[in-house]
Amino acid sequence: MEKRKLRIGVLAVQGAFIEHEQVLKNLGADVFEIRQLRDLDRPMDGLVLPGGESTVQGKLLRDLGLFEPLQKKIREGLPVLATCAGLILLAEKLSNDSATYFSTLPVTVERNAYGRQLGSFFVQNDLKHVGNVPMTFIRAPIIDHVSDGVDVLARVNSPVNGDKIVAVQYKKQLALAFHPELDLDSKVHQYFLQMI
Ligand code: GLN
Repeated sequence: MEKRKLRIGVLAVQGAFIEHEQVLKNLGADVFEIRQLRDLDRPMDGLVLPGGESTVQGKLLRDLGLFEPLQKKIREGLPVLATCAGLILLAEKLSNDSATYFSTLPVTVERNAYGRQLGSFFVQNDLKHVGNVPMTFIRAPIIDHVSDGVDVLARVNSPVNGDKIVAVQYKKQLALAFHPELDLDSKVHQYFLQMI
């Protein structure tokens, strides 16, 4: 019997969502965009929170009435792949910002930790459970602190701020400071689909 396609909702209010959609479609997933409340009526096996600007995304989520229903789904165990701004939306605490958003991931995150404008760089690094992957950082956050039960998947050593955590998993929340959707390597997305 053929396996049912996984249905992945990609938050598409701002940021780099199209790239995620393409990678997931290439891997055979059924992808749809989340832009308004009625998009949440569709059955969803997993959610992608893309990179972009967390403050803008947070505001749009609230204005569109998406914030509470999505937070509830994540709390109830909906698998999430969050990249960059998405990681900021999930974090329980931000060390350099008084705002918080979904607060479902028990970590502390520092926004723009590599500097605002010159903070973009690329490394090839190991990601636990996945293997060696390209990591593109764009005005990226880092993870300052993780609570018990959070699996640290990758650390990157940079001249700007030393050896820092850049990827974690907590239950079904996979959160990365970098942008796997921008490189020609779909191992991270493959891992996410397997995790579901
Ligand atoms: N600097 C952005 C923020 O703080 C995140 C950057 C990104 O998603 N590439 O929201």
